[in-house]
Amino acid sequence: MRSASGGPRVLLRRLREVMAEKVSAQDRLDKIVVLIAANMVAEVCSTYVLRHDGTLELYATEGLNREAVHQTVLNADEGLVGLVASDANALNLSDAQSHPAFSYRPETGEEIYHSFLGVPILRAGTTLGVLVVQNRAHRTYVEEEVEALQTTAMVLAEMIASGELSALAKPGAEPAARHGIHLEGSILSDGIALGHVVLHEPRVVITNYIAEDVPKELKRLDTALAKLRADLDRMLERGDVADGGEHRDVLEAYRMFANDHGWSRRLSDAVATGITAEAAVERVQSDTRARMLRSTDPYLRERLHDLEDLGHRLMRQLMGHDHAPSREQLPDNAILIARSMGPAALLDYDRKRLRGLVLEEGTANSHVAIVARALGIPAIGEVENAVGIADPGDAIIVDGTSGSIYIRPTAEIEAAYAERVRFRARRQAQYLALRDKPCVSKDGQKIELLLNAGLAIDLPHIEDTGCSGIGLFRTELQFMVGQSLPRSNEQLALYRSVLDAAGDKPVTFRTLDIGGDKALPYMETIAEENPALGWRAIRLGLDRPGLLRSQIRALLRAAGGRAVKIMFPMISEVTEFDQAKLVVERELTYLRQHGHSLPERVDVGTMVEVPALLYQLDELLERVDFLSVGSNDLFQFMFAVDRGNSKVSDRFDTHSAPILRALRDIAAKANAAKVPISLCGEMASQPLGALALLSMGYRSLSLSATAHGPVKAMILELDIGKAESLMAELLQAPSGSVSIKEKLKDFAEKEGLPL
Ligand code: PEP
Ligand code: MG
Repeated sequence: MRSASGGPRVLLRRLREVMAEKVSAQDRLDKIVVLIAANMVAEVCSTYVLRHDGTLELYATEGLNREAVHQTVLNADEGLVGLVASDANALNLSDAQSHPAFSYRPETGEEIYHSFLGVPILRAGTTLGVLVVQNRAHRTYVEEEVEALQTTAMVLAEMIASGELSALAKPGAEPAARHGIHLEGSILSDGIALGHVVLHEPRVVITNYIAEDVPKELKRLDTALAKLRADLDRMLERGDVADGGEHRDVLEAYRMFANDHGWSRRLSDAVATGITAEAAVERVQSDTRARMLRSTDPYLRERLHDLEDLGHRLMRQLMGHDHAPSREQLPDNAILIARSMGPAALLDYDRKRLRGLVLEEGTANSHVAIVARALGIPAIGEVENAVGIADPGDAIIVDGTSGSIYIRPTAEIEAAYAERVRFRARRQAQYLALRDKPCVSKDGQKIELLLNAGLAIDLPHIEDTGCSGIGLFRTELQFMVGQSLPRSNEQLALYRSVLDAAGDKPVTFRTLDIGGDKALPYMETIAEENPALGWRAIRLGLDRPGLLRSQIRALLRAAGGRAVKIMFPMISEVTEFDQAKLVVERELTYLRQHGHSLPERVDVGTMVEVPALLYQLDELLERVDFLSVGSNDLFQFMFAVDRGNSKVSDRFDTHSAPILRALRDIAAKANAAKVPISLCGEMASQPLGALALLSMGYRSLSLSATAHGPVKAMILELDIGKAESLMAELLQAPSGSVSIKEKLKDFAEKEGLPL
C-alpha cells in the first residue's frame, strides 16, 4: 500500500490522539481530514455529513476549496457522494468523471481530480455521512486502502453519533445522527408510553479500535470463531434445538454461515488493517445491516438476519460475557427496541420498569404482541431500522394508538404527549371507579362482562377489571410462548392457578387452538395451502387425541372440587362435538377410577366460529351446556377474508347485515333454548360492537382486560330496549352496510353513549 506515514495502524493511532485533544469540533474534523490525506497519499480528503433532511453537507476538506465547507450541500441522490450514501457501499473509481452519477460543484474545485474513493460513514447499518479521498492521477485504490478508509470512517461515525458536530450545524440543518425522528409502524398493543431507549441486543461500546498486536488479534478472532462453531455443533447435536428459543433450521443456517469462508475472511481482513477483533465484528455487522436494509429479497434479508445474529454471538464470545441488559440495569421507563423478540424474552424483563416495545419485525398476531398486550404495554412492530436509529438512553415516545414512534422528540411533542398520558390516566381513573358498580343497563338489564385471558400475567386482571369471570382462557398461549411442549404438570399448575385466582367466578377454558397460523415453534408443521382452513384446533385434537386427552385430564384435575367449563374451538359438525365431549367423559371416568378428586361440576360447550355450525344449531343446542361465538373467525370464514392479511382484513364491515343477522340468529336460538350464550371475539371489546350485540339479544360478553372500562361505561348509559327496536328495524331492511354502523353511531350520539 502506498502510504506516506506508516499505514492504517499509524493513522488510527494518530486519530485516537486527535480524538482526545481538547479542541473544537471543527478543528478536530479539519485535523482528521489532513491526517487521512497525508496517510493515504491523497490530494483530497473530505467529510460529508448527512443532515436530517437527507442532504449531505461538506463539513471538512483537505484539498478542495475551504470556502466550500458548510456551503456545499448535495441532494441525497446527487453525484458520487450521494451514491455512496444511498447504497451504503464503497465506491472506488480511477476515472470518476466518466461515471454516470458524477456531478460537479464548481465551488469545490474538484474538476482536476480523477480518482475517487468514497466510503459510507456507517453506524449500526445507518449512514451518517460519507468520507472521500481523491487524487489527480488515474489511480485505483487497493483493497487495503478501502479497508483503511472504512475503518477510519468508524471513528468518524462515533464522533458524529456523539452529537459533537451539532454545534457546527446551521439551525434546521442538524446532522441526521442525533436529530429527532418520527417513525411509523403497525400497532401491536395499544397505549402510550414516554421513556428511554433500551436496546434488547445492545451495541457493544468498543473502547479500543486499534490493535496493538495484529497477529495476536487474529488469533483472538480465530479462537472466538472456533468456539462459536463448536457451540453451534453442540447445540445441534444435543438435539436441544429449542435452546435460546431458536428453531433447528435457524441453528443450521447459523452453522452454515459460521463455517462460511467469506464471512470469516471479511472479519480477518478487517483485523489485518490493524483494528481489534471487536472492531472488525462491528464493521462487518454494520455492513451486513446496511445491506439488509437495502435488500428487498425476502430470502436474502432472512439470511442477512441470520448473519447479524451470528455477529452478536461472536461479539459475546470476544467480550467474554453476555452484554444483554440485566433486569437490575433496566432504567425506569424503559422502552425496549429489538429487531425481533420472542415472548419468553419479553417476559424476562422487569415489568415494573418496562413501559413499551418497538420491533423491526413482529405483527399483531405474533406471540410477542400477545404478551405485550397481556402486560398492558404499548407495542409497535414493522418499524424499519429502529435498532440502527436509536441509541440507548435516547428519549422516546411510543404511541400504540396511532403506530407512531418519536425518537429524541422535541420539547413540544413531549409536552403534547405528556398531556395525552395525563388525559388517559384520568380516564382510567374514571373506569376504575366503575369497577365495583353492578353492570346493569339504564333500563335495568343485567349484563355479564367476562375476561379474555391466556397467560399467568393476565390473572391480576380478574381483580382489576371487576369481571364476572373468565369467558375465554386461550390455553394455546402457554404452548406458544414456551420453548417446548408444556409438560402435563406445568399445564395443571397453570390451570390450577387460574381457578385459584378466579375464586368463585366461573372460568371457561378453551382447549388447544393450535395449528394454522398458531404454529408451535417446536412442533413439526406441514405446509398447508390454506392454514386457516387446515388441520388445526379440534381437528388436530381429535386426530391426535394424546394431546387433547392429557390437556383435558390436566383441566379436570386442576378443577378437583370446583366447577369448570371446557370449550372446544373450530367445531364444524355436531359429531365433532360429540367426539370431543366423549374425551371429557372418558377422562372423568379415568380420574374417578384412579381416586382423584373430581370437579364439582363440568360444563362442556363449544365456540361458534365455523359458518356450517349455524345450520346445525338445533342439534347443537340439545347437546351443549353453553356456547360462545368466536366472531373473529366467524367473520373471516363468512366473508372469506384472511384475518391476518392486512390487505383484506378490513375490506368488509364487521357491522354489516350479513354478519349481524348471523349473530342475531345464534343468540335468538340459544336464548329460546335457554342455553347460555356469550361472544368472545374482538367485536365485544369495542363499545360500538358491544352495543350491536346487546341490541341483538346478547347478555354476556367476554372482553380483553383494557376493554372493560369503556364497554361498561357505555352499558351503564344504555337503554337496551331502545337499541333493540332500532336494530330490529335496521336488520329488517338494511340499506347497505354503511348505514348500520352509522345509524348505530348516530343512536349512540343521540343517547349520549360514550363510544
Ligand atoms: C374468535 O375467533 O373470535 C376467537 C375468540 O378466537 P381466536 O381469536 O383465538 O381465534
Ligand atoms: Mg377463533
